[in-house]
Amino acid sequence: MREVVDIRGQRFGKRVVIGLAPSISGRARFYVRCDCGDVTHVFGHLIRDGKGHSCRKCQRIQGSLKKKDALEREYVGKRIGLRTIEGIQFGSWGKTGSRGFVAETVCECGYRSPVSFSALKRGIVNGCISCSKKLKKKQDM
Ligand SMILES: [Zn+2]
Ligand SMILES: [Zn+2]
Repeated sequence: MREVVDIRGQRFGKRVVIGLAPSISGRARFYVRCDCGDVTHVFGHLIRDGKGHSCRKCQRIQGSLKKKDALEREYVGKRIGLRTIEGIQFGSWGKTGSRGFVAETVCECGYRSPVSFSALKRGIVNGCISCSKKLKKKQDM
């Protein structure tokens, strides 16, 4: 029988241990509540090892924030097509409500609008609507 280290009431990252959960194969498990309200159970040894210090949802959000920071460092001030990127946000857009990175951009003509970052990077969107039309006319000629 393993010794149970009682960590009830302790905080690990975003999670607070709120109670003892039924153990599995003699391994102590605890109920934990994340700052976002998510309650689940984790193995005591894992959380003491520095694992699972926030719930999956928070980890995902944190991962996205990290990625957003990296994208900001790399792309803010850069020009893709006719647009210069002024900022990057994580959110949803459009009728479908797809989630992902949104680039705050300013077109060559001065028109500001947010666009899907991935669409911009893949060249699916270029300038604002009126500039794109002009561009298309030029290419057609
Ligand atoms: Zn959470
Ligand atoms: Zn424009």
